[in-house]
Amino acid sequence: MTSAASDLVRLAGANRLAGLSVLTMLVAASEGIGFLLLVPLLAQLVPQASTTDSAASPLSAWLAQSDFSPSLAGLLALFVCIIGLRAVADFIRALAAHELNVRIVDGLRAKAMGALVHADWRLLSLMRQSENRALLISTIDLAADAANSFFALLRTGLGLGATLLAALLISPMAALVGVVGGLLVLAAYAGLRRRARMLGEQVTKSHQAIYLTLEENLDALRLVKSFGREEQAERKVAQGFARLRAIQRRFVADTGRAQVLLQLGGAALLAVMAWLAISHWHYNVAVLLPLVAIFARAVPQLGALQSGWQQWAHAAPAFLAARALTERASAGAEPPFDPSVTPPALTRELRLSNVTLRHREGIAALDRINLALQAGEALALVGPSGAGKSTLADLASGLIAPDEGTVEIDGSPLTPELRRAWRNRVAYVQQEPVLFSGSLRDNLRWAAPDASEAELREALEAAQAQFALDLPGGLDCDLGEGGRHLSGGERQRITLARALLRKPALLVLDEATSALDPVSDAAVAEAVSLQKGRCTMLLIGHRGSLTRIADRVVKLESGRLEKD
Ligand code: ADP
Repeated sequence: MTSAASDLVRLAGANRLAGLSVLTMLVAASEGIGFLLLVPLLAQLVPQASTTDSAASPLSAWLAQSDFSPSLAGLLALFVCIIGLRAVADFIRALAAHELNVRIVDGLRAKAMGALVHADWRLLSLMRQSENRALLISTIDLAADAANSFFALLRTGLGLGATLLAALLISPMAALVGVVGGLLVLAAYAGLRRRARMLGEQVTKSHQAIYLTLEENLDALRLVKSFGREEQAERKVAQGFARLRAIQRRFVADTGRAQVLLQLGGAALLAVMAWLAISHWHYNVAVLLPLVAIFARAVPQLGALQSGWQQWAHAAPAFLAARALTERASAGAEPPFDPSVTPPALTRELRLSNVTLRHREGIAALDRINLALQAGEALALVGPSGAGKSTLADLASGLIAPDEGTVEIDGSPLTPELRRAWRNRVAYVQQEPVLFSGSLRDNLRWAAPDASEAELREALEAAQAQFALDLPGGLDCDLGEGGRHLSGGERQRITLARALLRKPALLVLDEATSALDPVSDAAVAEAVSLQKGRCTMLLIGHRGSLTRIADRVVKLESGRLEKD
């Protein structure tokens, strides 16, 4: 689990973590000093104790030799000051730990999200987004628990260290017995920590399964209802949670059992120590009582150390899962967007030369394609489902790069940098209209943040979506989650308006009207035909009005272009 710890240190920042450690040490030291003060305090209260032979206790010996003889009032005042200092330091430590936790978790989330959105589309399309969602939400929250347990471990570890140091100054013998006992306990629990880590990994997988089930069933609610599968949906989600709860229950039971055993063992150790101190070492009250106080404190500290360690082992896999995602996405990162790269304007032609692309090893989705789109041309690409039409559209719009061959615009091959820049000149409308929750204006400005009100209206008119301006509130109309207050045809015309707002050099319509009714299909086709000559168009579809308004129709079949 050390690599999870190194991730945590990197995200927190070594300096910040060192600062927190210093604060934690201050808290621990104040507690240790508090225990040490008990010795002179008790010596004051039980004067004969100080006269007893106390050679076994370095602190008593030092006190006897030195002329450190503060008054009772002085000692009590010092005690209060130290407790006060401890409380303040602990308060600051808690705030600092919280800040650091937020920094770690938000950093983890930002890194994973950043890696995802900047990854190449081919990699993203292979990923299960429900797993990524589970990771970005639940698993990373588990990393917050891991960070908390790490800080708690730091706190208890240092606290225990200070307690043992105090014990060492009061009685080295007793401290030695305590250390050996404590180490034995921690070693005995190694198996439990391994199990905690295994359960932690299962929790991550369980979250992913729950997200997948939730997403599938919520997305398919209409289908679920019309097939009368409500109970089955409910059951599947409940089963996912039941599996998660079973794992959590095992972990809680393990932790509880460990604590019970530890308390018992600790009490036994304390009893043995007290017996040794009284019967064999013949300690006086001024040494014995602080020792008892120290070990009474050390036992729960040891318990907290063990359970903190177990908690850390349980939650730390979340760091590794987040790192695995970030690394996987980063490995497929696109070059960063460079605003100084001017995208090609597409004034002559977009040409695919000998383009081959394989989504899966050995199977060419596109096989040695040669195709040129003239600037301003409306080209319809038809063919059966699975022929490779969307793949070709993704290549032309710079979303993906071919495995072999080139995509050139006005004679310039699309290098990775140019590909990223070229996408700013492309607008894409897909079969399933995607709108975001928010107002109509928000949705339109999503594609063109600087567009004026007049431009928004113009785009709506150009897309045959004037109806949208008559919606209650006009541009301020709230479209609901994913625009669900609108019909499919209405949503699609708004997405077309959004595409036109980009003033694209290439407009790609990928089966944009395939799911629409004939009236909406005709409306979108009419809007698109009005754009003819203003931009180059790639119109994909196996039927509908869009193919009829094209200047040229080419057919794709099993990844190959068919000659007319
Ligand atoms: P069309 O748009 O003509 O229906 P596609 O371009 O979507 O065809 O797909 C062409 C072929 O590539 C199909 O066999 C499809 O299963 C496969 N394919 C498309 N995308 C992926 C992907 N991300 N991973 C694996 N195979 C894919």
